[in-house]
Amino acid sequence: FQSKLPTTALSIFSQMSALAETHGAVNLSQGFPDYPVAEELLSLVDRYMRKGYNQYAPMAGALPLRETLAAKVDTLYGVAVDPQEEITVTAGGTQALFTAITAVVRPGDEVIIFEPAYDSYRPSVELCGGRVVPIRLKGPDFKIDWGAVRRTITAHTRLIIINNPNNPSTKVLTRQDLEALEQLLQESSIFVLSDEVYEHMVFDGRKHYSVLQFPGLRSRSFTVASFGKLLHATGWKMGYVVAPPSLTAEFRKVHQFNVFSVNTPMQYAIAEYLQREEHYLYLSPFFQEKRDYLTKGLETSRFRVHHSEGTYFLLVDYSEISSQSELAFAKQMAAEYRVAAIPLSAFYSEPTEQRLLRLCFAKAIPTLQQAVDRLLKI
Ligand code: PMP
Ligand code: GLN
Repeated sequence: FQSKLPTTALSIFSQMSALAETHGAVNLSQGFPDYPVAEELLSLVDRYMRKGYNQYAPMAGALPLRETLAAKVDTLYGVAVDPQEEITVTAGGTQALFTAITAVVRPGDEVIIFEPAYDSYRPSVELCGGRVVPIRLKGPDFKIDWGAVRRTITAHTRLIIINNPNNPSTKVLTRQDLEALEQLLQESSIFVLSDEVYEHMVFDGRKHYSVLQFPGLRSRSFTVASFGKLLHATGWKMGYVVAPPSLTAEFRKVHQFNVFSVNTPMQYAIAEYLQREEHYLYLSPFFQEKRDYLTKGLETSRFRVHHSEGTYFLLVDYSEISSQSELAFAKQMAAEYRVAAIPLSAFYSEPTEQRLLRLCFAKAIPTLQQAVDRLLKI
């Protein structure tokens, strides 16, 4: 048997979390919160389960949830989306990405991604017989050269995947970036997959621009969101996708045979919980405080901290400490100093010269304190 993904190994997130467990390390590698989900939300889940909301949800998602999400999109972006025709509830951002890719990518199609890139994009494209065409971005600014993107587009380009705010670079695209993309695609039939799972985490007064706000992008885009990030509940594996009716119809053709529908009681609970804007508007300041805590804590360390613009990650440069590869250094740091991080090389298809690790700060302050104490000893 010839593997369909011959070069794919166990994901770096599983690898590093396992290593953290083995060594009793503070786990700042895989991105997930270590503090509880809101009590009010837990009570709502309990209530809907007891009320009997325990059978299949509608294939596209519970309508009250889709209505609440349409209201959220309007509040955040001033854009009206149709909950019936344009929103589908998924089993996390990962399934939304996979299903969108499966819905549009055919054998021989080219898909442009920007590296560092989230690890699920490439295998999802390759399983469809598509060919990934990476555009490499380098730190510290990881800026996209839209002229280079134009030169990378060919007659075979089917899809461009963007991730904004970006995991792992933490960069937030500007209005000019999105206008450049919109203009670039004006005459084309290329689709856009916009991974916006960190839409609620942007710092220092920055604004998150969604592709939904740019008509020339909205008409060709799948926009992906995750309740894991929004509700500090990565284990619930819930998310959603927004796309124009024609793309939503194609998405649902795949979705119904992929999962058909997702967790019913949680959909109703989330629908009620997110009716209150304060349940999502607090997230940027909430995470900015954690970013600031970790950044300040490492100020006197031998790591050079890169400014984090968004997401719940930050990058640290260890070139003053070691010349080892990122993976080797991350493994050593987990074993000897007992702090686990993700090597940035995991997000590139070819080796780089960088010396960067990604740290997750979606943690309670005592956890961050413990990590800082250990990292100051290096
Ligand atoms: N995209 C990016 C950039 C992510 O970081 C993640 C989760 N870490 C996902 C998608 C997947 O989201 P979910 O956990 O909801 O599947
Ligand atoms: N998205 C999370 C991260 O970037 C992890 C997701 C996963 O474990 N697959 O850390």
